[in-house]
Amino acid sequence: MNFEVKKQILEKIKEYDRIMIFRHIRNDGDCVGATKGLKRILQLSFPEKEIYLIDKDTAQYLEFMGPEDPEVPEELYKDALGIVVDTASEARISNKNYKLCKELIKIDHHIPLETYGDLQWVEEDRAAACEMIVDFYNTFKGELKIDSEAATHLYTGLVTDSGRFKYDGVSGDTLRNAAILLDVGVDTELLFARLYLEAFEYLKFKAYIYEKMQVTENGVAYIYVDKEMQEKFNLTLEQASACVGTLDSIRGCICWMVFIDNNDAEGTIRVRLRSRFVHINPIAEKYHGGGHACACGATVYSEEEMRSLLRDADALVKEYKDTHEDWL
Ligand code: AMP
Repeated sequence: MNFEVKKQILEKIKEYDRIMIFRHIRNDGDCVGATKGLKRILQLSFPEKEIYLIDKDTAQYLEFMGPEDPEVPEELYKDALGIVVDTASEARISNKNYKLCKELIKIDHHIPLETYGDLQWVEEDRAAACEMIVDFYNTFKGELKIDSEAATHLYTGLVTDSGRFKYDGVSGDTLRNAAILLDVGVDTELLFARLYLEAFEYLKFKAYIYEKMQVTENGVAYIYVDKEMQEKFNLTLEQASACVGTLDSIRGCICWMVFIDNNDAEGTIRVRLRSRFVHINPIAEKYHGGGHACACGATVYSEEEMRSLLRDADALVKEYKDTHEDWL
C-alpha cells in the first residue's frame, strides 16, 4: 500500500547526507519507538549519513529506551532532510528547529488535522506509527537493514499504542509487522516488565481513583486529578496522567477520561480521552485537541469548560447508545 510515496521517501533519504528525525511533544512509546527505530534502521543501512534525533522532551517510564542526541548548531539543520514521525500538526512537533530543514517529510497515523511538509505519508488505519516504520523497512528490505535494537524500539511502540494488541486499530498487518520484529529478536519478557510493572505506592493511587471515580448519566467515567490529589500521592504530571487506563474496563462506560491539573499560571487542565465503540475525536477537536477515533487528548481552561466537555461527551455517548446495539 502507498508504494509510490514510500519510494519517494526512500529516494529523499538517499539524496541527503544529513537527516533529522522529529516527533511530538509529550512523547509516548510510539513516537519514541518509531523515531529511534527509524534512526537505527537508517544508521545501519546508510552508515555514511549523519542521522540525528534531537529532542529534550522525556518521559520517565520510557527512560530505558535511552537518551537522544545532544543539540547541534542550527546550521546543521539547514541542509538536512527532516522526517517528522507520529505528529498530526506542526504545533505538536517537539523540536521547533524542524522549520530550518531544507525539506520535510511527514509520516503519521493520526487523523490528519492539517497538511505540512513537502511529502506526506499518512495512514490513519495503522495501529501505530511504528507499524509504518516496520512496513517501510519491509517494503525495501533488500536495501534496508534492521537489528534487534531497532526491532525492540519498534515493538515497544506497537505494544504501547495498540494497548498490547487490543485496540480496534489492530489488523492482520499489525500482527504481521510485529512478527517481523519478533523474528529479528525482541526480549519481550524484559520489555513487558519495563513497561508494565508498577510501584507499590502507585497502586495505592489507583485504589484511590477507583474510590473517587465518577460516572455521568449516560456512562462517561472520569476522574479529576487535581493539585490536591497530585500532592497527596506525590505525583509528577506524567504519573498523574498515566492513570487513564484505570477506567477502561467498566461495563457500560464506553467513554472514559482523566482531567489533570497542569499546575500552570493559565490554569490549564489536560484531558486524556478514551473510548470503545463510539468515536470521541470530535469532542477532543472541539476542546483544542485531537488524536485518534478512540484515543485523543485535549485541553480545557477552567473547571467550567471541563464540565462543558463532560456534557458534550455524555450527549455523544447517549446518542451512540440510543442508535447502536452490541456495545457494552
Ligand atoms: P494522550 O492522551 O495525550 O496520550 O493522547 C492520545 C492521542 O491523541 C495520542 O496519539 C496523541 O498524539 C493525540 N493527542 C493528544 N493531545 C492532542 C492534541 N492536543 N492535538 C492533537 N492530538 C493530540
